[in-house]
Amino acid sequence: MGRQDFFDEGDLVAVLTTQPLDRLLDYKAPEGGCHLGAFVEVPLGPRKVPGVVWARGRGDFDRSKIRSVIRVLDVAPMRAEMQMFLERAADYTLTPLPAMLRLATRAPGLGDPPSMRKVYRPGDVTPDRMTDARRRVLSALQEYGGLSFTLKELSEAAGVTPSVVKGLVKQGAVREEDSPRDLPFPLLDEDRTSKTLTEDQSTAAEHLRHGIRSGAYGTTLLRGITGSGKTEVYLEAVAECFRQRRQALVLLPEIALSAEFMARVEERFGAKSAEWHSGVTMTERRRTWKMVGQGGAQLVVGARSALFLPFLDLGLIVVDEEHDTSYKQEDGALYNARDMAVLRASICGAQVVLASATPSLESWANAQAGKYAKLELTSRFGESVLPEMRAIDMRGADLPSNRWISPRLAGAVRERIERGEQSLLFLNRRGYAPVTICRACGHQIGCDHCDARMVEHRFLKRLVCHQCGETKPMPDVCPACGGEDRLAPVGPGVERLQEEASELFPDARVATLSSDLFGSARALKERIREIAEGGADIVIGTQLVAKGHNFPLLTLVGVIDADLGLQGSDLRAAERTFQLMRQVSGRAGRADRPGEALLQTYQPEHPVIRAILAGDEEAFWRAEAEERRHAGVPPYGRMAGIILSSPDMQEAFDAGAELARNDAHLRRIGAQVFGPAPAPVARIRGRHRVRLLVKAAKGAALQQAVAAWIAQLKQGPNLRLTVDIDPQSF
Ligand code: ADP
Ligand code: ZN
Repeated sequence: MGRQDFFDEGDLVAVLTTQPLDRLLDYKAPEGGCHLGAFVEVPLGPRKVPGVVWARGRGDFDRSKIRSVIRVLDVAPMRAEMQMFLERAADYTLTPLPAMLRLATRAPGLGDPPSMRKVYRPGDVTPDRMTDARRRVLSALQEYGGLSFTLKELSEAAGVTPSVVKGLVKQGAVREEDSPRDLPFPLLDEDRTSKTLTEDQSTAAEHLRHGIRSGAYGTTLLRGITGSGKTEVYLEAVAECFRQRRQALVLLPEIALSAEFMARVEERFGAKSAEWHSGVTMTERRRTWKMVGQGGAQLVVGARSALFLPFLDLGLIVVDEEHDTSYKQEDGALYNARDMAVLRASICGAQVVLASATPSLESWANAQAGKYAKLELTSRFGESVLPEMRAIDMRGADLPSNRWISPRLAGAVRERIERGEQSLLFLNRRGYAPVTICRACGHQIGCDHCDARMVEHRFLKRLVCHQCGETKPMPDVCPACGGEDRLAPVGPGVERLQEEASELFPDARVATLSSDLFGSARALKERIREIAEGGADIVIGTQLVAKGHNFPLLTLVGVIDADLGLQGSDLRAAERTFQLMRQVSGRAGRADRPGEALLQTYQPEHPVIRAILAGDEEAFWRAEAEERRHAGVPPYGRMAGIILSSPDMQEAFDAGAELARNDAHLRRIGAQVFGPAPAPVARIRGRHRVRLLVKAAKGAALQQAVAAWIAQLKQGPNLRLTVDIDPQSF
């Protein structure tokens, strides 16, 4: 860092904190000075809060009233690159900068005192002057051989003050080291093993390696059906990244996938890499945060929040299953990790690989337009092919009430059981039944806080709101009419489907995979492993199973309700259903056994169902693109959602109506505003939500206009406004 990046004691610095303030705060640099980007602790009113030295102070206050930075935290300063990323991400998503900073400072224990992080071991130099105290320190170290002491432990064991130990460190008689939890991750060997790639795999790998060697930004869409070797190919890009001495990040949409993935990393590179997601311990996360910044972690496998890690030199970001909706953060800062990956890479000169069997329409369109390079892996590795897809027309199935498995599907399952193969019954509905209705008065049990029905969960023995997580016991009497024993479950959830499957196949081993049946990510991983090894005949699952798990014995996929995603007015419904059905079907017949997928549907002639059955992706994308272009919606137009929420519905609605009236800023860029209307979820946790939708042409400066427009709103204490750029549903 040059001199202009360092502030001497007393210099004015502008600090960004994670507090919801709309500006930087001026402080004086502390004793010893501080770097630009330094993580610091500053006084704010009566409190101490962490922050980052963001810029030179402006000094437009009375200097004598400006307080000093309390201390500089013992972590590497934030790099200019990261500052720029946070600023641009904040601008793009219209998220306040402090909320963005919070994402980048999620390292647990950022403020631990430095001494807690060092350990002490015997050194190899004899001190020039041996005192009694020094001797005691050295013998304590000898006595406990391999153990490492913290400063406090060692000085207590030897009965000396810490300064004695420090004196020995200076002389080299005692070694001071970062504590083991702060040790670098094992080196990954890029040349350890490598499969012999097929021709189109090696063409793709070479293209990606070439990009990495260029040292410049670029994005590539890597498309290929499940099992075509996308992972194999992008691991070659990761290897090239290591050869260039740069770091790599692989984002996965689902932490349940990470165990399987880590095993592949180990197989390919000889050791495990760093992991970053909610299932990783705090200690490990802190180590990762630190090592990423020092170059002691070459590869991070993580969830979307790993994008905000302080990489020293990031050369590659892989977004696996890039179409997955869980990349969109829907709480707090609303961002799409796929888009943020592209932004981050463009700032630090990295390559992005978007891997998917069923790309999002956004990425497909960007590839068509030449903004992204496009690589295609055409066949599955080995001999296996995509399963045969067939519709089961439910209109003729004539099922008794409360039964959802058609005779034809049941017959296919029976064949699999007889052959010792597995079947997957897919239903994207958690719980026992989606609706509980009173047979006397028709009342449906809803959540007290949300505009959502409560879902019965027999396993948890409760009603659960899937919107806010609120639970309550199943009432004995109808809350509306007081009728006794009249409440009945309506429709199937996976738990109810399990009942039906167990009745149909009493001797089969039935396993249900649904996120709420497992207490921990580890328990879920364990169950997935058991199933993969043949520990079940029938697997019943929600969309949890659609994502990349490898079940070698699975040869049949039965989709219980292929129409489920097509209901409602969501313009992305077709895209999602198409992707989900393709993903789920891809679970069948991976390992040299041909697979079959049966889709139960009441509308076999629906264009989306027909496209799925025909397996004609290009045709589907073209048709879908045409519809969106016609409607002027993403990716052929730009949109922003504005959610106004308040405990008082009228207040939220009035604020929305006022904004909608004062739309001059929007009209200036030719944008239109729709609404206010009840938001897709009209009430969450007791807050009423209304939504405005802004629609603009593709090249419009949407963010600036929206920012100026919403600035007009006087936000009361109860009123909250959230901007959602590129909303998932519109
Ligand atoms: P995808 O990521 O597209 O689903 P994978 O990379 O996981 O595909 O490949 C599917 C399976 O085939 C994996 O078990 C992988 O190890 C194996 N595989 C893919 N390509 C090769 C290859 N060239 N040689 C040997 N095995 C391969
Ligand atoms: Zn609720």
